[in-house]
Amino acid sequence: MKRYHIWTIGCQMNKADSDFVADYLQRAGFSETEIAGEADLVLLNSCVVREHAEAKVVNKLRSLKGLKRSRPDITIALTGCLVDSRIDDLKERFPWVDLFFRPQQWDVFSDWAESYGLPGLTQGETPVPQNPPVSAYVPIIQGCDSFCSYCVVPYRRGRARSRDLVEIRCQVENLVQRGTKEVTLLGQIVDAYGRDLPSKPDLADLLADLNSIKGLLRIRFLTSHPSFMSPKLIQAIADLDKICEHISLPIQAGDNDILKAMKRGYTAEEYGTLVEHIRRTVPDVALSTDVIVGFPGETDEQFARTVEVLCQIRFDKVHIAGYSPRPQTAASRNLEDDVTPETKEARRAHAEAMQHEIATEINAAFLGSTVEVLVEDKKKGKWCGRTRGDKLVFFASEASLMGQLAKVRIDKASPFALQGTLA
Ligand code: SAM
Ligand code: SF4
Repeated sequence: MKRYHIWTIGCQMNKADSDFVADYLQRAGFSETEIAGEADLVLLNSCVVREHAEAKVVNKLRSLKGLKRSRPDITIALTGCLVDSRIDDLKERFPWVDLFFRPQQWDVFSDWAESYGLPGLTQGETPVPQNPPVSAYVPIIQGCDSFCSYCVVPYRRGRARSRDLVEIRCQVENLVQRGTKEVTLLGQIVDAYGRDLPSKPDLADLLADLNSIKGLLRIRFLTSHPSFMSPKLIQAIADLDKICEHISLPIQAGDNDILKAMKRGYTAEEYGTLVEHIRRTVPDVALSTDVIVGFPGETDEQFARTVEVLCQIRFDKVHIAGYSPRPQTAASRNLEDDVTPETKEARRAHAEAMQHEIATEINAAFLGSTVEVLVEDKKKGKWCGRTRGDKLVFFASEASLMGQLAKVRIDKASPFALQGTLA
């Protein structure tokens, strides 16, 4: 039996694409191996959002050079955001890689599969794994039209393209029939869903449609862009029983001049007003965000405004990254990367420490309360799953609870997770 090895870094979209390929290969008779050296096909799914991620991918690629030399029969494939239109450059840099395809470039993957003697992928196919996870990712919109000045994604993933609403519903129904209980709808700007489709449905319409699927317990979506969060969508989150009260809403910075230079399209005040509206309409909503520190020209005062906003809004979760200049982007072409690595790191650590305190307080408030957990996994002998607000919860039980909703009384809290006992 042939074997495959898939290595993935980066966003949930990459994870979803890797799952797609893994499922395809399993149906084509392959089995998975954890060891690249034992595989017939090695696929790397890459991320280049920050230099650090790209360096990891390049290291991984270099580590496969010797393998290809000793086993010329092996196929090494590369996808993800390292693959852009300049494939010839990549071929020159990494001649031991046999196949390059851009994210979602399934026609290229399909041609390779056929040349390898495997069935090709049919156009528009949305295969559903035999045993899908309890909580499954479903990409609903690819690409991004926003061109934030620091971000390489639009150059690598192309224009925004929404999937047909009926096709998405079909895929979710199939997942649910095979055991999935929760879906997370994915997009770089998930709330821009539908704008490019002829009948112009929006995310609220899609959520209302999916909400009626019997057997589906929960629906999540990410990542939302503040400029696309409509009152209709916020109302839908409040009204539809399966939509989880959790919104991932990157702010990126708290200073208006930095936000402008980032080309984010909103001010810190507008963001704050949006959050007030969300919290009024969806009580107990959990909010997570992304922040970039050390953007070109960011002063201590400007950074302090970001920290101030984090303290005012009190997010449940914040992903903080130091600015990393990326080729092709407007910021890397026009602005000097003038904040030193030390300052970036100091700012990152400061914001992180701040958020650590906030998350500690938010999570401590759960002590003694009973939460509803969708059980997704078993780790180190404990069941684990998430609340509707995306809190990770661990608890012990002898019962078989996979895929079930469990009531758990919280008796231990950390900034990252909760622990409890079955109520
Ligand atoms: N579409 C989402 C949005 O609008 O924020 C997120 C997509 S982006 C791939 C994920 C996160 O990576 C961003 O929210 C941003 O914080 C971070 N990021 C993107 N480009 C970056 C860069 N050049 N340097 C540092 N962080 C970056
Ligand atoms: Fe990148 Fe901005 Fe698009 Fe998000 S919205 S993917 S940060 S360009």
